[in-house]
Amino acid sequence: MPLISETTARREMAAVGRRMYERGFVIATDGNLSIRLGPHRFLVTRSGVCKGSLTTMDMVVCDDYGRIVRGHKVSSETLLHLAAYYLRPDINAVIHAHPPLAIAFTLADKNLAESRLPEVVMSLGSIPTAMFAAPSSPEGAEVIRDLIIKHDALILDRHGSLTVGKDLTDAYYKLERLEFAAQVTLAAVSLGEIKGLSPEEIRKIEKSIEFNRSCSLPRCPSCGEPLHLSKSVFCSQSGTESSIKADTERLANLVQQIIKEGRM
Ligand SMILES: [Zn+2]
Repeated sequence: MPLISETTARREMAAVGRRMYERGFVIATDGNLSIRLGPHRFLVTRSGVCKGSLTTMDMVVCDDYGRIVRGHKVSSETLLHLAAYYLRPDINAVIHAHPPLAIAFTLADKNLAESRLPEVVMSLGSIPTAMFAAPSSPEGAEVIRDLIIKHDALILDRHGSLTVGKDLTDAYYKLERLEFAAQVTLAAVSLGEIKGLSPEEIRKIEKSIEFNRSCSLPRCPSCGEPLHLSKSVFCSQSGTESSIKADTERLANLVQQIIKEGRM
């Protein structure tokens, strides 16, 4: 049973690839994307193609040994992707990119793992840096081994990033967050010493993560995502005025209930 149809996966990959290029996360023909289609089948970007003009034909289907099933010449970093899938059966998408600020941190021998932005901590935990391996070398798969088991976002020393997710959009958002962490940390460093999180603040973050996990908030009528109190109440695809009104009332009741129970 396929996890996602090949047609849908190709369309999604083309869209995310173009987004990566527009945001400057890759240049020229750099970077590569992949999606797990089902058991032993992966869709991977073709070698030597610019992600800014990626089409649904610029992809290759391969098996878990990197052997081509459909298409021509897989990306040179396919082994890196396959290693991530092998080590993380829970993920369905992998993105390798070259986010410039995150790479700059490794050039300066600085570590983003120390970046303690609460939103980044809540979504990614820490962002470790894997040891140096030459781009496109088999060693690349080796150096991520111990880190990718525990982390969804890694920096590859003086090379780029690796993010994984439950789907391609999820992996892409993690790439955005990783570069955002580098951007904010760089700005903070230029202003002075970085203010870390105190043990009390870390406890608050852990409590917040626990709260978000345990409470069963209503779901968006349009996209089905839980409506988090800390985020925007409705997604951009939200439905009609009446459904919004009904959900606003439901949310107001929920907030009252949470306050009454002393959960906030
Ligand atoms: Zn690369």
